[in-house]
Amino acid sequence: MPPGGGGRGGYSRGFMSEEEKASTPQITWPLVKRAFSYLTPYWKQLALVLVCIAVSSIFGLLPSILTGRIIDEGLIGRNLGMLIRLILMSLGVTVLANLIGIAENYLNTWIAQHITFDMRNSMFRHLQSMSQRFFTENNQGDIITRMTSDISGVEQVITSTFTSILSNSITLVVAVVAMFRKNWLLALIGMVIVPLFTIPMRKAGKTRWSLTREAQSCNDEINGILNETMSVSGQTLVKLFGKEDYEYGRYKSWNERMIKLNIRQGMAGRWFRMVLTVLTSIGPMLLYLVGGILMMKYDQNLTVGDITVLVALLGRMYGPVNSLLNIQVDWMRSMAMFSRIFEYFDMPVEIRNAPDAVIPAQASGQVQFENVDFSYNPERQILKDINFTLESGHSIAIVGPSGSGKSTLINLIPRLYDVCGGCVRFDGMDVRQLDLHFLRQSIGVVTQDTYLFNGTIRDNLLYAKSDATDEELMKVCEQANIADFIRNQPDGLDTMVGNRGLKLSGGEKQRLSIARCLLKDPALLIFDEATSALDSISENLIQEAIDPLVTSRTSILIAHRLSTILAADEILVLKDGEIVERGQHKDLVDAGGVYTELYETQFRKALEAEKEKT
Ligand code: ATP
Repeated sequence: MPPGGGGRGGYSRGFMSEEEKASTPQITWPLVKRAFSYLTPYWKQLALVLVCIAVSSIFGLLPSILTGRIIDEGLIGRNLGMLIRLILMSLGVTVLANLIGIAENYLNTWIAQHITFDMRNSMFRHLQSMSQRFFTENNQGDIITRMTSDISGVEQVITSTFTSILSNSITLVVAVVAMFRKNWLLALIGMVIVPLFTIPMRKAGKTRWSLTREAQSCNDEINGILNETMSVSGQTLVKLFGKEDYEYGRYKSWNERMIKLNIRQGMAGRWFRMVLTVLTSIGPMLLYLVGGILMMKYDQNLTVGDITVLVALLGRMYGPVNSLLNIQVDWMRSMAMFSRIFEYFDMPVEIRNAPDAVIPAQASGQVQFENVDFSYNPERQILKDINFTLESGHSIAIVGPSGSGKSTLINLIPRLYDVCGGCVRFDGMDVRQLDLHFLRQSIGVVTQDTYLFNGTIRDNLLYAKSDATDEELMKVCEQANIADFIRNQPDGLDTMVGNRGLKLSGGEKQRLSIARCLLKDPALLIFDEATSALDSISENLIQEAIDPLVTSRTSILIAHRLSTILAADEILVLKDGEIVERGQHKDLVDAGGVYTELYETQFRKALEAEKEKT
């Protein structure tokens, strides 16, 4: 979507737009508690971090406090020995504070890495248990962002935000106490300046937050464009439609917007920093002035060293005050990330194993649909009152117009979705009562959209049975009619299939996925025949591969070709989610119904064309 087109990153000039406000998480106590619950397993290490932070913050302030003694006792007191001792002490504590800082840093990183490690793994496990619905409805880019940047953001919270809050608070408290102990009046004067920070700081914080949100959504858009256009299929589409310039323009305009945002982010708070610089220089001057007057006229005990210490401590306070006031943005950002992560964690697992799930000793592949109703969403029913039985060792062909619900129907058997009404039985048992792993292990599905991952032919085959020998692999390849192709490749089974198997032809991919399915040796074979026209040689090769399979094991075929349909024991004709006809080819073809129409339009022409060719 081009800029200004109302995408997720609506351009706002002021503070948060309505959309941004809506997407800002409600920072509630349960959210915070839940976020912090991730720290509890590491409480021992955390306690150590706390000690390290406290010690290094206090040690970090000691040199400032020692400055007073360096001036009073060393310089004004003209005591060289003392001067050297104090300087060495000051250096010593600085080194020590930094060494402790390193230890704290290591511990911090260790905790953060362990928390994100746990979080990533449990998120991966959780997402794996999500149903097909989740993956069809959610954007892939969004899932990846949550798994990567959002969880990395959590790491940032622990290593940076959390320690920053602690160390700055401790430094601040110690500095304030030390100042009041030195001279309460001067400390009070120094403090007066501090609240003045909050006014410009609040404004700068809000602007930064608003810009951060805009930059985030801008980044999402850019990632989205890259995701879409840099994939093989995306690039093919761009090239075939000559959309290179359009996509370049789209990318460029979002990129431009990102640059502007980055510049604004860089400049955000620039005015504030100017005010801050002025204020930070006013503070010491005020202390020198009032301290000087006090020292000269009213307080004989106040020394030059004392005033210097107060000025130094005041200087040490600005940094923490600045950071603590700015922490609001980091805090909000962190909580936004946590809430995005929790949103996924809280998504219920739709398809889960029943607590008393049954694992039968063997599967025969018998399938029964009893009054099955199904809909993806309440508005539209996809399958209506489906009833059929597929006996073990038999085969059923499902035919019907596009969109009639054929793929939906077969997805119910391995429980990619659960029925909305009625019941699907496998070997006589409701699939919801069977162990999911057993059920899916007993079913082999060859889909239209064959998925091969980037790797060798062997890798792709071994996915079905990791310990299969080369002989086993070649045997199934033989059955799937792909063995000759593999033998003709210089690298044989080690031939790379390319991204999503794109180095192979459609027919080769199909046959390879049949071989993969055979290696699994499933009790029930489901074959969703590709609608796309393959050349007759490829078709024959596939046909030769599936014919013996269909006759040798229980199978369901979504068939688009007559030869496949004829190989089946029974034909179910699906229309608008209902079985409108069923029987054998010879009975259905003369019935004058949907099947006759399908036969006339789809198969007869193909048969005639075939005849003409021969
Ligand atoms: P084809 O022969 O073209 O593959 P089909 O008979 O297999 O079609 P299905 O894929 O089962 O048809 O789709 C049946 C109907 O359900 C279609 O109208 C489709 O738009 C709808 N549909 C499919 N998947 C989903 C989904 N994940 N969410 C919502 N609706 C869906």
